[in-house]
Amino acid sequence: MFEYFDIHSHLYFPDYDTDREDEIAKIKDAHIGTITIGTDRESSQKAIDLAHAHDNLFACVGFHPGDVGVESVYDSEIETLANDPRVVAIGECGLDYFRLDGDAEKVKVRQKNIFESHIDLSLRINKPLMLHIRAQKDTYDAYADALDILEHHAKQAGSKLRGNAHFFAGDMKILKRFLDIGFTVSFTGVITFTTDYDEYVRYTPLDMMMSETDAPFVAPVPYRRQRNSPLYVPEVVKKIADIRGESFESVRKTLVQNAIKYFNLG
Ligand SMILES: [Zn+2]
Repeated sequence: MFEYFDIHSHLYFPDYDTDREDEIAKIKDAHIGTITIGTDRESSQKAIDLAHAHDNLFACVGFHPGDVGVESVYDSEIETLANDPRVVAIGECGLDYFRLDGDAEKVKVRQKNIFESHIDLSLRINKPLMLHIRAQKDTYDAYADALDILEHHAKQAGSKLRGNAHFFAGDMKILKRFLDIGFTVSFTGVITFTTDYDEYVRYTPLDMMMSETDAPFVAPVPYRRQRNSPLYVPEVVKKIADIRGESFESVRKTLVQNAIKYFNLG
């Protein structure tokens, strides 16, 4: 049914306000499926509404760590939303140390608490995590902290703890730690304009990898600096095949199968 799958996009963004339904029709005509990712209660609800209106769209609900401030608390309304049958994952959630405003240590503690609540929810309702992890410049600090938390849970929950590291930007050590706990990683259009991640694209077993756009952000070559769209996920898939030196057809098919399998879309 799907020829491509983009596991991470934000189609409710204002960027699509003028032509959202047309864009979604094009995505459907191209046989592309995508998961619309919420970043708070309101956008999570929008993601659900889109997923109910279009059978090639699925939803993911959560609270983005980059929006967590000193005063932030876990929004338990996310739990109600998470039970919707069109919701296939929990997030985006995780740790974001890239821009820490105010009392950085306090914000980190809040982020960790809220992340823990998402992990508990994921385990309770058996839907995988969609991780957003972003470290401070030139470090892997948020990755190290997130993996400490995840590995701790993996010890108790084993393979019940499931998830995908979206927009992978760690190093080899970080990648191996994700793979060791059975987490998949996904790559965006960034791999079409830098070779920085080639090593990780090659190292990750194909059945542990996903394709994504993170639309409307980071459009791949040849659409750079334009509004991104799930329509451009074929460029990411082509590049993955290219970097790995594998057949485009088999990479394309496996990446669709991975999305169906890990997000239980069957
Ligand atoms: Zn996102």
